[in-house]
Amino acid sequence: MEGICHDFGNLRAVDRVTLDVQPGEVVCLLGPSGCGKSTLLRIAASLEELQQGRVFINGEDMRSASGRLVPPEQRNVGLMFQDSALFPHLSVLDNVSFGLGRLAGAERRKRALELLETLGMAAYADRYPHMLSGGQQQRVALARALAPGPGLMLLDEPFSALDARLRDRIRDDTLHLLKKAGAGTLLVTHDPEEAMFMADRIALMKDGRVLQMDRPVDLYCRPKDPFVATFFGEVNRMEGVVHNGAVDTPLGQVEARELPEGTPVLVMVRPEAIRVVVVGQAHKGHRKSHVIMSRLLGRNSMVHICLHDRDNREFHMHSTMPGVFLPQENQQVELHLDQSQAFVFPLEAAND
Ligand code: ATP
Repeated sequence: MEGICHDFGNLRAVDRVTLDVQPGEVVCLLGPSGCGKSTLLRIAASLEELQQGRVFINGEDMRSASGRLVPPEQRNVGLMFQDSALFPHLSVLDNVSFGLGRLAGAERRKRALELLETLGMAAYADRYPHMLSGGQQQRVALARALAPGPGLMLLDEPFSALDARLRDRIRDDTLHLLKKAGAGTLLVTHDPEEAMFMADRIALMKDGRVLQMDRPVDLYCRPKDPFVATFFGEVNRMEGVVHNGAVDTPLGQVEARELPEGTPVLVMVRPEAIRVVVVGQAHKGHRKSHVIMSRLLGRNSMVHICLHDRDNREFHMHSTMPGVFLPQENQQVELHLDQSQAFVFPLEAAND
């Protein structure tokens, strides 16, 4: 997609978006509700008119020289949208077999059953859509989209109707299926964890624009802007000023070599980048702080800490520690910052 813009009346829903999906690659469109993810996907599928920009599938311009748009059914894409209904008068098996017209009857049945099996729906092959739960219907719709083995899959929140436990399994199986099929996939989700699990690359969107398109590890560890940093989970925030290539924070000095002297900055630190050490086991030279409370969250523990800077101003931070780590209230602790997970942004960018 090149330079895509899309307006609904006065509202710019998609704003100058350029992105690509390679064969065999899963790209997730991630962002808050209303940021334009579905509109972009619908433009790729030709379910929404192409107002501005160009769409290529398999190298072919979807607007021909005569100005005609290639219609959805001729795009060799598998579609699954939030509202994509199953054919009510066809059984589950026939729904999935629908797009396999070019295969012989027995072969169609075999391929459709295989897909249903992978998605845990083989036992429902003879049922009709109205006899299925929302999550089951969603899995059948996914199987139907995958069945013809399209070159490009366009999926809009394909797992949203599934409960949490089932979702993890179906995600895993779907990713396996997509990789095996070698199709390129553009998948819409508002869930950062889902995007990190499914995607080779994530395009993080806000207000119709792609803010950053990168591998999940790059978005998480090298966010280009405060919105990107915050979208993947809680961050501690501190303000400061660049001096001699660093910012003095209550957690110690943080490098900021790329920013000019005197720049007011926002420093963001993920909770897992702050290691809490109960005093007594600690080394010298770190700033002392005390525990407000600690809570076990499952795999991690959250520790709420109160600390003071050089001017004795009070700050509050959250740290996430692996496993069970529950220091008592008022316990003196020292904090160790993993510098590589501290992000520094000019304050003006943070106020955008
Ligand atoms: P969600 O995660 O809630 O599905 P989204 O990121 O997919 O959101 P879109 O559905 O692409 O967002 O919508 C982008 C913006 O365009 C929203 O502000 C929405 O209200 C608006 N919009 C979408 N479709 C239409 C339409 N047919 N007519 C008018 N406005 C629309």
